[in-house]
Amino acid sequence: MDNEKPNQKDSWEKIVWDEHNFNNRTVLKSGSYLNCYCPYCSLSLMKNNGIHLETLSADDEPGWVELCPYLNAFERKSNLKLAEGEEVHDIRCWQCHTSLRAGDRKCDRGDSHVACIMVGISSVRVPFYFCMRTGCTWHTIDLNDEHKILLDDSMEW
Ligand SMILES: [Zn+2]
Ligand SMILES: [Zn+2]
Repeated sequence: MDNEKPNQKDSWEKIVWDEHNFNNRTVLKSGSYLNCYCPYCSLSLMKNNGIHLETLSADDEPGWVELCPYLNAFERKSNLKLAEGEEVHDIRCWQCHTSLRAGDRKCDRGDSHVACIMVGISSVRVPFYFCMRTGCTWHTIDLNDEHKILLDDSMEW
């Protein structure tokens, strides 16, 4: 089921976890501020107090979306006319322009692709996946059992 991991997993695990040991379970509360970084160039994705992402619409029209940087407050702003229920074609880092699409990984609520960004939590950065379909609020932090950081109410909304 879960064996289609994106290729960059090895690299972020080295970057993120080698020097840290989380033995305690941490719950990320709703409303936690998500300080986001590109998994490729490691630069901040924050701009104008939002998570800024380059986007290609389903019609390949280039633009941007801005996500609200608080957990479970997923408002989106965009200069594109994104139809509700439509998957964007690509999401890219606005610093290095690398695609943030997480390979063939699919949203747990449907067949849409997901994008992956890094979220800073205390002194570490963890991969945060979210659905590329407009209007879908599915997201997760993908960690193995060793690193127990949970998203508040992540199954419920
Ligand atoms: Zn980048
Ligand atoms: Zn979805």
